[in-house]
Amino acid sequence: MAEEMKGFTGRQLRIRLGERQSRVEPLDPEAVRQFLGGTGYACKLLYDELAPGTDPLGPLNKLVFATGPLCSNAVPGGGSVEVCFKSPLTGGWGESRAGSDFGPDLRRAGYDHLIVEGRSETPVYLVIQDDDVQFRPAGHLAGKTVGEKLALISAELPPGRFTIGAIGPAGEHLVKFASIMFGDRAAGRGGAGAVMGAKNLLAVAVSGSNRIEPADPEALKAALKRAQATLRENPTSAAFREHGTMGDYAGNDEKGDFPTRNWQSNSWGKGAELFDRYEAENFVKPYPCYRGCPISCARKAQVAGGAYATPVHGGAEYESMACFTAYVLNEDVDAAVHCSYLCNQYGLDTISAGSVIAFAMECAEKGILTPEQLGGLDLAWGHAAVLPVLLGMIARREGLGDLLADGVRVASRRLGQGSEAFAIHVKGMEGPAHDGRSGKALALSYGTGNRGMCHIHPVEAMAWDSGKMDWGLQKYGLPDPAGVERWDEAGKGAATVLLQDGLSLPEILCTCKFFMYAGITVDHWAEMVSALTGRDCPGGALLEIARRVYTLQRLFNIREGFTAADDQLPERVKAVPASGRYRDQPDCGIHDYAGMLRDYYLARGWDPETGVPTPATLRRLQLA
Ligand code: SF4
Repeated sequence: MAEEMKGFTGRQLRIRLGERQSRVEPLDPEAVRQFLGGTGYACKLLYDELAPGTDPLGPLNKLVFATGPLCSNAVPGGGSVEVCFKSPLTGGWGESRAGSDFGPDLRRAGYDHLIVEGRSETPVYLVIQDDDVQFRPAGHLAGKTVGEKLALISAELPPGRFTIGAIGPAGEHLVKFASIMFGDRAAGRGGAGAVMGAKNLLAVAVSGSNRIEPADPEALKAALKRAQATLRENPTSAAFREHGTMGDYAGNDEKGDFPTRNWQSNSWGKGAELFDRYEAENFVKPYPCYRGCPISCARKAQVAGGAYATPVHGGAEYESMACFTAYVLNEDVDAAVHCSYLCNQYGLDTISAGSVIAFAMECAEKGILTPEQLGGLDLAWGHAAVLPVLLGMIARREGLGDLLADGVRVASRRLGQGSEAFAIHVKGMEGPAHDGRSGKALALSYGTGNRGMCHIHPVEAMAWDSGKMDWGLQKYGLPDPAGVERWDEAGKGAATVLLQDGLSLPEILCTCKFFMYAGITVDHWAEMVSALTGRDCPGGALLEIARRVYTLQRLFNIREGFTAADDQLPERVKAVPASGRYRDQPDCGIHDYAGMLRDYYLARGWDPETGVPTPATLRRLQLA
């Protein structure tokens, strides 16, 4: 193996479902040099191999299970897999991360990436064990929940330790925000589950027995030791373990970072009370989403009895709980935990699912849904009992669920009657439970996010200007957050560029972003990458790669017809909240979004009017 490929398996596995063929290919060394791995390498591959206009749910779309140089159980956060595809929800770039042993096990099997092409005529699942690749009939799995599929497949597997990724009924019914589930962890956003369902691929099981040798084992050992010491000293590690992502629930309500009643407000005033109830009655214990995670922020939760009785399961994360409470004004925490569980079983993205229900409730309130469309459902705000019913209907595309299964953009276009005004999305992706009115860099990140209004790339913007974090990026030009006012709009454009580049590195390297909230910086990652690959890769070089990746994803979207109009925010998301704690605060509104966007485009080296990367920028990034 060439020196450049140290730290990688150097191979990718390509599956042709229609022909039941598998082929091992060498990694493209030039793509590795320019884009490294994870969402970077996968973007280059999909940009080169997908023709513009490819139907996301047709056989020509491809699904890439991508890993990167840090994908390893030994690296903090390295139990990750990045699923990349053309999104059926947005029509543009799609990526979704899950914390799981799937990524490290795929690498142990001998592959950095798994590329799935074509479509099987009949339901199938894949079993990959080192060099052995089997296509197995999956007719008996059709229609089963994720839990049922995992149990049936586990009983059929050969000896060995396997990790399984599977879709639920939502993926089989091509719900455009269907997830791929890795146990209780989801690659949720953007509809990867629908792409997999359209291919008639119901699950992939992977097991491996190989080892990837680092270029410099001693340097890697030292880099990991430094990272572990940082994690031990950083109080956020312990806070994550103690409360998980739910630890933000009450504080975000207070800060106005808590979209409420379909974004009519950004605070509710009930966050603290509901969090206490969740901690007392539903939380069971923390757990690691992959073997060896030193933070273990994931939650085991349950509902011990009553109408929403739910077994102990992994779930009830912040975003899911906020979407099934504040978005829909539901105060029944048991119902919200149950809904999060149901989404995992159906294979539905919890954020989009909560969002489409909030949208439907507002449609019902305004008389936009006819009695026939409602089919007897009571969609009053806060009506907890209707939530699980509607989730099942969405997953199976029944009645009103069929309309909602395409997301709020499509549903509002079909319904009309002014509903587009409260269909909260960017590029077709529904908004997560953070509010850009209370930290203006977040608003810009939402508008310019390549996969739409997602919760992964933009949230660091809020953590910077409102939360005062810097991730070690000040030395690369990020303004000191201590001197930044969260309500201000000026100066947010250039900062957002650096935030997006720096905090998209975990997806390129294939590790968990939460470690950057617990003290791990770009320079820690750089040390590890250099030791693993033998390639001198300082922090500045990693940031340059991230900028190249972000720009190529932008080009992917432009090729699909996206323009500056797709970087706009819904008016409601910019307006001063109609109710709640911040309703009389003019600062809590976005007044010159066009100016912020212009500053952002200029900082990226994109045309300030069209948002298209200039030829000079493309040359500088070696993309032309
Ligand atoms: S910090 Fe949390 S989300 Fe990240 S890998 Fe560990 S358990 Fe998973």
